[in-house]
Amino acid sequence: MSDEITLFEEFVSPLIKLNTVAVNKEECEMAANYVWELFIKNNFDSEVIITEEGNPVVIAKINGETDKYLLFYDHYDVQPAEPIDEWNTPPFELTVKDGKYIARGIADNKGDLVSRIIAVRSYIEENGELPIGIKFVVEGEEEQGSMHLKDALMQKRDFFKDVIGVIWEFGHYTKDEKINLILGLKGLLYMILKKKVIDHDAHSSLAVVLPSAVWEMIAFLHNMKEKGLRELPESNFGIIDARKVIEEIEKANYTVYWDPKTLKEEYGITKFVNNMSDEDAKIAYYQNPTFNIDGIVAGYTGPGAKTVLPKEIEVKIDFRLVPYQNPEAIAEAFIKVAKDAGVEAKIHSYTKPVFTEFDHPFTQKVANAIKNLGEKFYISPWSPASGPMDLFVYDLDLPTIAGIGISYWGSRAHSPNENVRINDVIRTIKIIKGIIKSFEK
Ligand SMILES: [Zn+2]
Repeated sequence: MSDEITLFEEFVSPLIKLNTVAVNKEECEMAANYVWELFIKNNFDSEVIITEEGNPVVIAKINGETDKYLLFYDHYDVQPAEPIDEWNTPPFELTVKDGKYIARGIADNKGDLVSRIIAVRSYIEENGELPIGIKFVVEGEEEQGSMHLKDALMQKRDFFKDVIGVIWEFGHYTKDEKINLILGLKGLLYMILKKKVIDHDAHSSLAVVLPSAVWEMIAFLHNMKEKGLRELPESNFGIIDARKVIEEIEKANYTVYWDPKTLKEEYGITKFVNNMSDEDAKIAYYQNPTFNIDGIVAGYTGPGAKTVLPKEIEVKIDFRLVPYQNPEAIAEAFIKVAKDAGVEAKIHSYTKPVFTEFDHPFTQKVANAIKNLGEKFYISPWSPASGPMDLFVYDLDLPTIAGIGISYWGSRAHSPNENVRINDVIRTIKIIKGIIKSFEK
């Protein structure tokens, strides 16, 4: 066991040292080469795929007793470490302190990648041969929307022919120290809205006769939130009934993850929005798409006062979509309605919502493997977060499961002082070996 931890530190440290925010092309190339080397060093076949304009994608495989493969998806890029002065330790150095590893990317996702490679290596050392082959896809633009991943995957379609299922990049131990197996992701549609109604800013006294871009935008947003979205022809609201998916999981004696107490505590609230009960909020968490305002820029917000009627306003919004809403169709319909209201709407980026059925054999296989290890876990229909999982589930037709990873409820992914607990690394390596073992005949 201690060998695994020594190796973990040895393998992950050089990767942590590279500041692989996706825009840092050079460091991302170095990281891709390092990941390639790591695979080669651990007896995988590996290849670096160059994408047009994007960061390299590394694929790897190692054979097992059958000609089938289990695939891990991970990424070597990270979120920016800013604000740097809020870190208690240098973000691009692996710090070991109080039973934790602290560094940018240790939780999301460099630590997961390395722990998985070690699990495979350690399995072979202990058992001689893998019962099933293992493949990896490791990309370098996950945190920026995975713009070039599809290009890379389509270049290598044959690589996925013998894959029976995908284990997704992340996993967190919950506050009560359980695993949360997640069968899908919400989609994300990010849009930028603009409205300009007069040629230049005006004296605010003229607000009696001149139109206001800000009021008009507020009215538009409010109207869309109240009823407009549901009336979009392609919105597909209620197309999936999360209650049914939850019921199916609970009928099989699993628990769906929902921790309202921790959520309220974390944000310092006593009631959910619209005074929802904890039980209604659980359904909303899975069932409802969001229409969220990320930011509004208009007029004067500096010190003191300025009496001004602003000429324009810009708003950033995002929708978290549920299966099977279609972000392209919703964006198109939204742009049309916005245009009628004099609002210019543009798509910034999107990913599709996606999930793998609870009764899919791959879901059952992974759930049973974890159960047989004596691990306590939840099964959740999908995560409220997003990612390029649709490329695997829809484009490559591969069942995909998330939630097996080294993070915990306090990991602070994307934030200063990102960290994982050493014991969780050990626990996760054991779980991955258990999943591999479940493929023994
Ligand atoms: Zn990630």
